[in-house]
Amino acid sequence: MAEARTHVLVINCGSSSLKFSLFAGTDRAAILSGLAENLGQPESRLILKENDAKVTIALDGGSHDTALRRLMADLQERGLLDAIGAVGHRIVHGGDRFVKATRLDAEVLAEIDALSYLAPLHNPANVLGVKVAMEVLGWVPHVAVFDTSFHMTIPQSAHTYAIPQEYRDAGVRRYGFHGTSHGFVAKEAVDLLGLDPKDHGLVIAHLGNGSSATAVLNGESVDTSMGLTPLEGLVMGTRSGDIDPGAIFHIARQDKQSIDDLDTLLNRKSGLLGLSGLSNDCRTLESAAAEGHEGAILAMEVMVHRLARYIGGLATSLPRLDAVVFTGGIGENSSFVRAKTIARLAALGIKLDENANGGMFGGRCGVISATAAGPAAAVIATNEEWAIANEARPYIGQDIRKAG
Ligand code: ADP
Repeated sequence: MAEARTHVLVINCGSSSLKFSLFAGTDRAAILSGLAENLGQPESRLILKENDAKVTIALDGGSHDTALRRLMADLQERGLLDAIGAVGHRIVHGGDRFVKATRLDAEVLAEIDALSYLAPLHNPANVLGVKVAMEVLGWVPHVAVFDTSFHMTIPQSAHTYAIPQEYRDAGVRRYGFHGTSHGFVAKEAVDLLGLDPKDHGLVIAHLGNGSSATAVLNGESVDTSMGLTPLEGLVMGTRSGDIDPGAIFHIARQDKQSIDDLDTLLNRKSGLLGLSGLSNDCRTLESAAAEGHEGAILAMEVMVHRLARYIGGLATSLPRLDAVVFTGGIGENSSFVRAKTIARLAALGIKLDENANGGMFGGRCGVISATAAGPAAAVIATNEEWAIANEARPYIGQDIRKAG
């Protein structure tokens, strides 16, 4: 019964993990969520979360296919399988081909697969997740939602690297990521701050394990910190963000490192982890910094410096700055990082309300700046999964075949 299929399943598939959330109707909170981790290894397992209850199911070395089939069996037992009307898939790289969410079929899937050269760590895993999910849940529409799509409005001057034409023709340009989050937060900011949807300028800082900042003009991305890959820009958990390519040539020559070694160095061993020598986790580093750990202090200082510098730079891509918005695990929870960053934004006329800042954590949203004069600063909790579900929901009811 098509009319009973009101739920949307959202899938985010990585190389050895798979996260999912199930949304009922337009409710913002998932009725069931969880992840399958260590896929393909002996300790693979599926964790299901419903309200405060958590169930862990051993998958005994099972991979993505086992995890999804086990999840479907569980949804069947809970009477939820027949309620699913569409599946939304997070796809990291859509190149310049996918400017919006797209219904998946064999052709679209092949195009996403062909873009793997731009995101070798992400797209192949995303494609695998789609293939398995389409086999297991073949009777409902599947929709690809791209991290890059929101940024396809960035003008040429901002997305072009200063390199020879043959490389630019080969697709080497800035694409930007976290688009689903930036797009969602931009809309929420308009509501929260009472902005004119057709006349506003924002800089959004999405700060998590991966971090990026985006300038949004009247709801559209006009500049962003990430580039061809999610490595460019801000200091992240284990990623370096910006670094002089000359420094990489130097390290490569000096240490005779291979391209793969350098990839690992900059993607997995750098950022907060590399700076602190302690952890990639902001919370851990804040505690360590408070106790005087020099590496942790340095890591926080470099992260904040780069962030403030980017926010200032991105503001120049806007005719006017109405607000700086913080989101993501760090942006939503770390009053310390927000305070240190806003202290660096005096030139933009932003002043912190310390009390409001101190009370903003755990999913709370609100203004944290002190005066009505000058741009505001605000915290908005992101909800990428729900935003993906929103993109997939319009496809409910299209070409539904009988289950099984
Ligand atoms: P991901 O990019 O993997 O989705 P998240 O958005 O969940 O990551 O962000 C994870 C980061 O948020 C970690 O660095 C974590 O330490 C940080 N974080 C979460 N809660 C706090 C907190 N209370 N104070 C400081 N940092 C926090």
